[in-house]
Amino acid sequence: MIHQSEISSILDGYDREKITIATIGSHTALQILKGARDEGFRNMVICKKGSANVYRQFGLADELVIVENYKQVLENAFQERLIERNAILIPHGSFVEYLSPALIENELVVPMFGNRKVLGWESDRNKEREWLLRAGLRLPREYKDPADIDRLVMVKFPGAKGGRGYILASNPEEFEQKHKALELIDKEMYTLQEYVIGTRFYPHYFYSPLTDKVELLSMDIRYESNIDGIARLSHILQDSLPEPSFVVTGNLPVVIRESLLPRVLEMGQNVIETSRELFSPGLTGPFCIETVCTEDLEFIAFEISARIVAGTNLFINGSPYSQLLYDVPMSTGRRIAREVKEAIKGDLLDEVVY
Ligand code: ATP
Repeated sequence: MIHQSEISSILDGYDREKITIATIGSHTALQILKGARDEGFRNMVICKKGSANVYRQFGLADELVIVENYKQVLENAFQERLIERNAILIPHGSFVEYLSPALIENELVVPMFGNRKVLGWESDRNKEREWLLRAGLRLPREYKDPADIDRLVMVKFPGAKGGRGYILASNPEEFEQKHKALELIDKEMYTLQEYVIGTRFYPHYFYSPLTDKVELLSMDIRYESNIDGIARLSHILQDSLPEPSFVVTGNLPVVIRESLLPRVLEMGQNVIETSRELFSPGLTGPFCIETVCTEDLEFIAFEISARIVAGTNLFINGSPYSQLLYDVPMSTGRRIAREVKEAIKGDLLDEVVY
């Protein structure tokens, strides 16, 4: 495990006038690069040959570094190169997936935006559940034994990235039959979770330790295949419905009924306060609580992403909510850069970068 003091001493050596905002070329890199530019920083994107053209095409990167493999970022020489540039790495979904939470915690000394301890809490389903329950959020019911299934459940597997390979079952027999047919290495490591019927909302929050405020920047609904396609044809398919899958293919912008906003804000606030108790100094920066709003107007949270999420790509030019908070187009990527800028001004960089 990298000691915080090692990262702090590297950060102490940084030239505050020459900070580079750096990230891996995928996921939300375009808005992170644009946001850095908009806030007056130099930026850098680290990508593979195949995706370099995207970043060239949009002309948003001051420096483009091509790697064969993302794990190269962890090599000493590469990290030294980043440190020479006074780089602050911005983690996103693919960044965490490619490097892995364990390697980030154990091998990455380059200062990174946000508290690294959060990675262990969001990637472990039991810890994540403990966190959200302590924050007073309602979670879907979970079943230990398939024999107890008494309503529609989603069977979640650890290796099922982006909802691929999840199955649904309404009773123990259906579970046994579908589970038996599966060809998955980790098929015994499932979680049985109540399938909550309602409207999904994925609010994008930003917590600033500098102002001690939780901001609601935007909100989306994920578009998922094939479940969203099935919905269009359900009356025709009826008896021959294919097994639904939940692979994210896009994102739809959404605003929520205004009377639901107090609860949305309260959930964000509670998650932050609890995170402070669980892993001080807690979650800082962007996060998203994945929820379903039921017909009783209650939010059931089934996951938290403790970093910038891809749904924020809808709002590179700001959202209806960010427009109420800022008089410039404030994407989550730009908000991250703004936080770094404010921290530099107040000589508080070590409160936002770890
Ligand atoms: P990611 O890491 O990209 O968020 P994942 O593999 O962790 O994906 P989930 O986010 O848990 O998968 O679930 C994928 C999708 O399945 C959700 O976006 C949602 O549409 C649906 N889903 C998950 N859990 C539930 C639930 N308890 N009730 C209803 N729908 C659910």
